[in-house]
Amino acid sequence: MRLKVLGAYGASDAEHNLTGYLLDDWLAVDAGTLTSKLSFSQQGRIQAVFITHPHADHIRDLPHLIHNRFSQSAGPLTVFATKDVMEILSRDVFNGTIWPDFSEIISPLSGKPGVQYRALTPGKRIVFNEVGLTAVAVDHAIPAAGVILEMNGQAIVFPGDTGPTQEIWKRTNKTQNVVAIVTEASFPNDQQALADETAHLSPQTFGDELKKITVDAPVYASHRKIPYERDIESQIRNLRDRRARVLLEKNYTL
Ligand SMILES: [Zn+2]
Ligand SMILES: [Zn+2]
Repeated sequence: MRLKVLGAYGASDAEHNLTGYLLDDWLAVDAGTLTSKLSFSQQGRIQAVFITHPHADHIRDLPHLIHNRFSQSAGPLTVFATKDVMEILSRDVFNGTIWPDFSEIISPLSGKPGVQYRALTPGKRIVFNEVGLTAVAVDHAIPAAGVILEMNGQAIVFPGDTGPTQEIWKRTNKTQNVVAIVTEASFPNDQQALADETAHLSPQTFGDELKKITVDAPVYASHRKIPYERDIESQIRNLRDRRARVLLEKNYTL
């Protein structure tokens, strides 16, 4: 599979982008960066996006992706999230005040709504366009779930923002042919207290999480905070685990 990393940081400036991943050009995970880095026609090819949690750095481009879809003939974008995440998005974002609810408005171009919401039950695998999706709850400051995606005989795991967690690793260890895991390391080791308080990982706790993972696949640290990116990178390297890498904003073939 092809993984296009549109944003690999937990903050943004002119050279660093918020979390956003695109698989095989049609399936996105998180929407911090999608519209801001994709052409209008590339956006039209996205069929679905999985949202891990409603923090602003993971949904920034979602209202605009939906709005652009409304102005295209491609038909509805499918937004996947767990039920509790979806309820927050509906109540606090797509509520007719911050942004319209485009699931209720028919596009003149497609004759259909711009978006359809699909709430997932954590732990329950569904199939969409021949891709297996399993949302798995993780441990973050607000309701949050990662996702295990199985496509074309390969699997990739995105826990999203999380502190130390268990269930998604148990599931990952039972999944066939995992080719990559994209987790996080937000703060450097000397800010471990802040990482713990905000339910994020540092390279040190990233290293502890690695020990829970038995699959032999690269484990990427995403969501670095900008001022500490070099520190985090060297601390990840110092873990001396050949699976441990930092995630870069580039295209990966897995
Ligand atoms: Zn985040
Ligand atoms: Zn978050």
